[in-house]
Amino acid sequence: MKVVTWNINGIRTFRCGIKKTLDALDADIICVQETKVTRDLLDERTAVVDGYNSYFSFSRGRSGYSGVATYCKDSATPFAAEEGLTGLLTNHAGAVGCYGHHSEFTDEELQLLDNEGRAVITQHRVQCSEKIQSVTVINVYCPRADPEKPERKQFKLQFYKLLQARAEAMLKNGSSVIVLGDVNTSHRPIDHCDPNEIDDFEDNPGRKWLNSFLSDDNVSPSADFPHSGKFVDTFRFFHPTRTGAFTCWSTLTGARRTNYGTRIDYIFADNRLAKEQFVAADIMPEVEGSDHCPVWGSLRCSLLPNSKPPSLATCYLPEFAGKQQKLSRFLVKVDQKSCRSESKGALPGSQEEAERRENINVTGTKRIMRTESVNQTSKKSKTAKTSSKPQGNLLAFFKPKNEKALGSSENSLKSSPIRDERAPHVSSELHNATEDPTTQGEHLSAQTCNARGDKGASFGFWKSVLHGPPPRPACKVHGEPCVLRTVKKDGPNVGRQFFVCARPQGHAANPEARCNFFAWVDRGK
Ligand code: ZN
Repeated sequence: MKVVTWNINGIRTFRCGIKKTLDALDADIICVQETKVTRDLLDERTAVVDGYNSYFSFSRGRSGYSGVATYCKDSATPFAAEEGLTGLLTNHAGAVGCYGHHSEFTDEELQLLDNEGRAVITQHRVQCSEKIQSVTVINVYCPRADPEKPERKQFKLQFYKLLQARAEAMLKNGSSVIVLGDVNTSHRPIDHCDPNEIDDFEDNPGRKWLNSFLSDDNVSPSADFPHSGKFVDTFRFFHPTRTGAFTCWSTLTGARRTNYGTRIDYIFADNRLAKEQFVAADIMPEVEGSDHCPVWGSLRCSLLPNSKPPSLATCYLPEFAGKQQKLSRFLVKVDQKSCRSESKGALPGSQEEAERRENINVTGTKRIMRTESVNQTSKKSKTAKTSSKPQGNLLAFFKPKNEKALGSSENSLKSSPIRDERAPHVSSELHNATEDPTTQGEHLSAQTCNARGDKGASFGFWKSVLHGPPPRPACKVHGEPCVLRTVKKDGPNVGRQFFVCARPQGHAANPEARCNFFAWVDRGK
C-alpha cells in the first residue's frame, strides 16, 4: 500500500492529463491540497478519473481558494468517506463517524473550521499479515497564519486541535490512522532552510502543537510533555538526520533553485502503524508543477477494496452520475494547443505565500553574513539531490513553471507582498533612495517583470510604462542585470518601481543566491 500527499497549488497542475499524473505518482491513495476548485467549477475530467474513485471537499466561502481531494485507485476503494473534521458536513450514509470531543469549541467555531474545504477522510480495509484492520486516511490542508490577521493564528491552532481530537478519537476507536497533507508548519530547525533567522523558533505555537501531536523518542516526558504524542512523522522516522529535505519553496523568489525551502508537507502515522507497517517514506523534490513537491509513504499491508465507493464519491454527483459509461468520455482528446492556451490563464498565487514568508522569516534585522554556512548550504542541496529518487516518467509531465509564473501572471502576484525580498537588507545600497519602504513598516507587493522580455508576459507591463523600460542597473555582487518590480500594495509607494538582483532567493550566505541590491527607479523617468 502506498500513499502520496501533494499540495498541487491549483487543480490546473493536472491540466494536461490527470490520469497520467495520478498513474505516474504510482500510489493507491493520492491526497492533494489546494485544488482551488469549487463544486461549480469542478469538471468531469478532473472529478471522474478512469481507474480511480475520488472525494472532494470545497471551500464554501471564497472561490478559487483552498480545497482538498483524495483519489483512490479502484483497488483501494474506501468503505467510508466524509468531508470535514467536525461531522457537521455529514448528512449521508457511508460516513466515517467517530468525532471526538468538541467541548472546547463553540458551534460557530466548528462550522467555520469546516467551511473552507480543508479535510477529506477516507477509511480503508487493509490486510496486515493474518489480520484485517481499518486504516483511516485524513487528508488535510491546514490553515496558514497570516501575520496581518491575528484571528487566523487562532483559527490555525483551533484547526490543529480539531484535527488532533478527530485523529486521536479514530485511533482510540481501534482504527489505524494516517494524517497527511500540507500542515503549514515546519517542525524542527532541520526542516527549515534558515531557522536561525527566526526569533523564538521553538516558541511558535504551531511547532508546539506538532510537539504535542508527534511522539519523539528523543524527548523524555516532562512537565511540558507529560506524555509523548501518538503520531510519527514518517519521513523523519526513516531519515532522522537528512538535511535540505524540503517540500515547499517560494515561487516568487525562485527559491527552489537554491533549495531555500521548508518541509511543511507530511505523512503522519500512528506510532504502531508507523513502526509495524511503514517500510519507507520520502519526499519527491524532483517533481515540479507546484510550489510544493509530493511526499510518499509505503506500507507493508495491502488494501482490500470495498465493492463500491461510499456516497461522497464524485462519481455520484448528479452532474457526473451516469456519464461514466459514455463513450464520448473516452474519445475526448486534450490536444496540446488547448493545453497551452489554458495554461496561459492566470493562476491565482498560492494562498500560502504569506505563510511561507512567515516560515522563511527574512525580516532583515537579524540577517548577517555567515560565511561558515556557505559550505553547509551547498552540502544541503547536494544531499537532497542525491538522496531523491527521480521518477523519469513523472518528471516528463511537469515542465518547470516557476519561471513563467514569475513573469506571466499579474494576478498571481497581486496579493503577494514581498517582505521576503532582500530589500530590507540593503541599507548600504539605499543611501540614494528617497525612502526605504521596509523601515517604514510598509508591506510591498510586487509584480515581477522579466526584463529579459518574455513575450506576452511583460507586454502589458511595458505598455503601461509610458517611456519604455528604464535602463537596468547591474547588481553590485554579481554584476548582473537586475529585474524590475513594481509596488502593488496600496500605500504611498504604490506604482513605484524598483530594481533587485535577478537571482533566486537563497540563504544569506549563499553566493549563488540573490544579493541584496535594491534601487528605486526614479519617478521622473
Ligand atoms: Zn546579485
